[in-house]
Amino acid sequence: MSAYAQLLEAVILHVEQLAAQDVRHLPVTAATLAELSAKPGRRNPTPLPSAALAPAPLAPARPRAAPAPAPARPPAGEIFPDTAVPPTPIAAPMPGGPLPPKLAPAAKAEAFAALRERALACRQCEHLATTRRQVVFGTGDINARILFVGEAPGADEDLAGEPFVGRAGELLTKIITAMGLSRESVYIANILKCRPDLPPGAPGNRKPRPEEMATCSPWLQEQINLIQPEVLIALGATAVEGLLGGPVMITRQRGKWLTYRGIPLMPTYHPAYLLRNQVVSEKRRVWEDMLSVMERLKMPISPRQQGYFTTG
Ligand code: URA
Repeated sequence: MSAYAQLLEAVILHVEQLAAQDVRHLPVTAATLAELSAKPGRRNPTPLPSAALAPAPLAPARPRAAPAPAPARPPAGEIFPDTAVPPTPIAAPMPGGPLPPKLAPAAKAEAFAALRERALACRQCEHLATTRRQVVFGTGDINARILFVGEAPGADEDLAGEPFVGRAGELLTKIITAMGLSRESVYIANILKCRPDLPPGAPGNRKPRPEEMATCSPWLQEQINLIQPEVLIALGATAVEGLLGGPVMITRQRGKWLTYRGIPLMPTYHPAYLLRNQVVSEKRRVWEDMLSVMERLKMPISPRQQGYFTTG
């Protein structure tokens, strides 16, 4: 296959995956657009370096006010350079710095309960505080080794006051169970603790806004300070953006270990994406990410677990 065909195939696959995640707009630099629109015969015949199809490192957060000038050509290693306009609004990354010292069990439980009380009374985003039914703080074991981070509560979670209880939550529970764990033995939280508001009668959910994530993220940061899990699993691009800043292309980042304030962070697809995209290969990718987490935590992995999805 020619380099052009390879690139086109990678682009189409990527755009399909973004569409499956309900991404409707994709900023592309003029240079990239020109490259993609050019007929193969008119293109620069120089073969693309193999790096052009390889994942790029996580782009650091850039202030919107001072975009970098668009390069004449996309830099090597980038399919979507996104240098001038980020593909999604940039969320402020959570404050860095080392984790505080671990608390003794009783002090930890007390501090966590106090944190929960404070969060449940939060009205910093007045528009969300007036439309929410409940603050969805988080659930599970505060001594868990694994902390799953999602995006924001949906209608079911808003009603129940618990993260991941809807269809995506059922799938997450299945994944956790397949790992030989239970929901009660891990911790599950979201970047945003309130359901993002929608116009009255509007169906579905909306992605949290950067300013909402920036306002809310200290709650998760404090949860992480107290829990100090051995591994964080970020479910979807928004979760990674909420933790590390963005923009994030989850199709590139999933499966590759990152670090959040010294804690290993595994980005993977959001279960809602798997529900929309019932392709076995995508499920297999998420499962491979979970196997990677299990290996890292030296959890036992049975031949059956190792073989999930290998036979389709
Ligand atoms: N999706 C999320 O990201 N979080 C939830 O709690 C439910 C669905």
